[in-house]
Amino acid sequence: MSGMRTALVCGAGGFIGSHLVKRLKQEGFWVRGVDLKYPEYSKTCADDFLIGDLRNPRVCQAALDRRFDEVYQLAADMGGAGFVFTGENDADIMHNSALVNLNVLESCRRQQTGRIFYSSSACMYPAYNQNDPDNPNCAEDSAYPAAPDSEYGWEKLFSERLYLAYARNHGVGVRIARYHNIFGPEGTWSGGREKAPAALCRKVALAADGETIEIWGDGLQTRSFLYIDECLEGTIRLVRSSWSGPVNIGSSERVTINQLAGMIMGIAGKNLTIRHVDGPLGVRGRHSDNRLIRGKLGWEPVQPLEEGLARTYAWIAGQVRAGGAQKT
Ligand code: NAD
Repeated sequence: MSGMRTALVCGAGGFIGSHLVKRLKQEGFWVRGVDLKYPEYSKTCADDFLIGDLRNPRVCQAALDRRFDEVYQLAADMGGAGFVFTGENDADIMHNSALVNLNVLESCRRQQTGRIFYSSSACMYPAYNQNDPDNPNCAEDSAYPAAPDSEYGWEKLFSERLYLAYARNHGVGVRIARYHNIFGPEGTWSGGREKAPAALCRKVALAADGETIEIWGDGLQTRSFLYIDECLEGTIRLVRSSWSGPVNIGSSERVTINQLAGMIMGIAGKNLTIRHVDGPLGVRGRHSDNRLIRGKLGWEPVQPLEEGLARTYAWIAGQVRAGGAQKT
C-alpha cells in the first residue's frame, strides 16, 4: 500500500458503503472497510475488512490505527419508513448512530484524518416545509428552526452539528451530504428496513399480471430517488471539493409514489391494481433542491429515474426468483 491513497469506509457492509468501496478501489485506493457484517449480496472489494461495532471506542481506534486520506462515515442504524416512522426503534436509532458518530469523529481527530465525509439525510429538514407535495422546500438554508419529522432526522441534525463543531474547534476536514432516497441493486429489498423503490420492485416482481399490490397511504406523497452511481459521484466530488457546508445529494425529479409504482409496472410489463392501505408515512412532499450543489460543485445528478429503476427492478426480480419473499 506504500504510495497509495488510503480510505476508510465505515458501514462498508451496507448498501452505499459496499458500492463506495468498489468505486474507491477502481480509483486505485487502498481501502479498509468496517461494519458489523460483510456485504450481503457480493464479496467486499476492500483490501482489509474489520468486523466490529463502532459504538465501541476501542473498535474505532483499531479501525483508525493510522492516518487515512479519506474517511467515509456511513454506518447508521437505519431503514425505510417501516423502520424509522413506527416509533418502535427511536431509542436505538438515536443511541446507536450518535455513539458511532461521536467515536468515529474523535478517532479521526486523533489521527488527523485528511477528510471525513458524513452521510446526513434529507430527513433532517423541517416537516413544516414539506406539507405541500408539489412545492416542498428542501434548500440547505431552510434547516432552521429545526423540526424533523423523525428521531432519525434529529440524530442526523445533531451529528451534522457535531461534525461542524469538530471542523471549527479542531480543524477536522469535514464534508456533509444530505442524501435524498438512494436506491439501486444490492440494497435492502425485504425484511422491514427496505425503502419505497425496493419494496415496490419486490411487490411488482412477486405479483402475477392482473393481481393487486398494496401501497402505504394514498400514494400522492412525492419524493425524488437517486441512483447509487450518481450518489457516489456526488459524494466523491464533494469530498474533494473546497465546499465544507452541508449539501443535498439527490435527484430533482419529483414523482408521486403512485407514479413510481406505475413506472415499475411498466418496466416489468405487468398491469397491476393498487390498493391503498394504512402504513407509516413520512412528510407529504420532498425532493432535492440542487441549486447549491450546482453552484458549489458545478455538477448535479441528471440520470432519469426510469433508467436506475430498470436496473434495480432487474436485480430484485432476480433475487425474488432465486429465493422468493413475502408479498407484504
Ligand atoms: P445500510 O443500512 O445499508 O448501511 C449502514 C451500515 O452501517 C450497515 O451495514 C450496518 O451494519 C452498519 N452499522 C450500523 N451500526 C453499526 C455499528 N454500530 N458498527 C458498525 N457498523 C454499523 O444503509 P445505507 O442505505 O447504505 O446508508 C448509508 C448511510 O447513508 C447511513 O448513514 C444513512 O443514514 C445515510 N442515508 C441513506 C439514505 C438512503 O436512501 N439509502 C438516505 C439518506 C441518508
